[in-house]
Amino acid sequence: MAGEAQSDCLFCRIVAGEIPATVVRRTERTLAFRDIAPKAPVHVLVIPHAHYPDAARLAAAEPEIAGELLAEAGRVAEDEGISDYRLIFNTGAGAGQTVFHAHVHVLGGTPMTERMI
Ligand code: C5P
Repeated sequence: MAGEAQSDCLFCRIVAGEIPATVVRRTERTLAFRDIAPKAPVHVLVIPHAHYPDAARLAAAEPEIAGELLAEAGRVAEDEGISDYRLIFNTGAGAGQTVFHAHVHVLGGTPMTERMI
């Protein structure tokens, strides 16, 4: 069923607590944790607990949760004390997506004008 946890999905396993992560925020439907290979001083991933392969499919199926993801990204930035940050949704392998569970990257803590992920 859409949204159900997948046993072979890394981020589903992080949500389940089976794989460790440095969690910075948790809500009933979202989880935010530090990226294991940070590309900026602040690099946090915000994911839904529910499994959708990418953010577009999450938004199509569960628009409220997609909105929560964005709101949580803003709260992460606030908690981290940054007002300028970049949100990235890599969608598809050709765009650099490597984990096929919807997530948004929150990147900041350094000037982002030149930086690409
Ligand atoms: O957008 P993309 O799919 O490439 O992002 C996946 C991100 O998940 C990468 O930035 C990677 O460093 C991160 N990751 C993580 N913890 C893991 C495995 C991957 O933070 N255990």
